[in-house]
Amino acid sequence: MATTAGDADSLGEVADGLVASRAGRIVFAGPVKAAPALEAAKVVDCAGRWITPGLVDCHTHLVYAGDRSHEFELRLAGTSYEEIARAGGGIAFTVGRTRAASDAELRAASLRRLDAMLAAGVTTVEIKSGYGLSLDAEIKQLRVARSLGELRRVNVRVSFLGAHTRPPECADADAYIDALCSEMLPVVAGQRLADAVDAFCESIGFTPAQTRRVFSAAAAHGLPVKLHADQLSNLGGGALAAEFGALSADHLEYADESSIAALARAGCVAVMLPGAFYFTRQTQRPPIDRLRAHGVPMAIATDCNPGTSPLTSPLLALNMAATLFRMTVCECLLGVTRHAARALGLADELGTLEVGKACDLAIWDIERPAELVCAIGANPLHARVWRGE
Ligand SMILES: [Zn+2]
Repeated sequence: MATTAGDADSLGEVADGLVASRAGRIVFAGPVKAAPALEAAKVVDCAGRWITPGLVDCHTHLVYAGDRSHEFELRLAGTSYEEIARAGGGIAFTVGRTRAASDAELRAASLRRLDAMLAAGVTTVEIKSGYGLSLDAEIKQLRVARSLGELRRVNVRVSFLGAHTRPPECADADAYIDALCSEMLPVVAGQRLADAVDAFCESIGFTPAQTRRVFSAAAAHGLPVKLHADQLSNLGGGALAAEFGALSADHLEYADESSIAALARAGCVAVMLPGAFYFTRQTQRPPIDRLRAHGVPMAIATDCNPGTSPLTSPLLALNMAATLFRMTVCECLLGVTRHAARALGLADELGTLEVGKACDLAIWDIERPAELVCAIGANPLHARVWRGE
């Protein structure tokens, strides 16, 4: 059985299905009885299991050094996030550890998280920088992220998130954005270290005006943009992302009607990150009903990061999206395949089982697709196929 995601609102389920590939590309996907005569060098009988597109985790910060579970313990004991930050914790701790780590240390730490995702059916992962916040340290993070795609059978897309937060040694956010646009971005673009540029537009991140400057600089270098938007307050981040034709606007808990309408018009994907919502015990749910009503494609990702979403299971993210955000099973599964591919600008390449696309598959020991969303902490992956193998 296979889910081909033949149209936007259904999984395109096929009973008794067949997926055929040549040189890593799908040459047929559909019912066995409709298949043309194919000379197959190798035939694999999946014995009634379900085949889906390989999972696409379209928003992660998985390259970092240093564990922050001690902060988790402190918070459980009643210490506030502000107190932790004042004592040098929070994102500053991760920046310090990431800057101090060698390439090899950073790679080893990141591979542990990547391997957990691959074991859960991920075949494409997006990885952001943003824990370096200096030219050298950002480049180190971007290079390590790229290298993971050479060390494992996975498609890695890299986003430059220099505009994540103000570096601890820099008191002037505008001066930092100046340096980011005039010194960091040209190197990142020139050395092709990133596939997109991301920013954190928030009261604790950067203002819409600063974000606008980063996006204009990205456009000048021909790089598409993405945005952490309206997570903790409504700064009109969704509309800003739409104005720049962003691939995606991510979080969106506080996005208003006008932002959502703008996202719909721009064809921008809304990326839901229920792991961060859960872990930080937020109460403002993203406006799923309005996103749905406007037909904004919704993706779901782990947001894997040490501070607000230490999550490496895309299936657990789906369960959270269903239970916390009331997304349907179909929305959840499209959110980690078809729409997640689109959030990375890879809609023509990945995310559905269609002729011409990369033959990246996940094969599951399940009775029905809903099992992938329903089960908490289970991993029914039978096998992962990457580029036809
Ligand atoms: Zn994020």
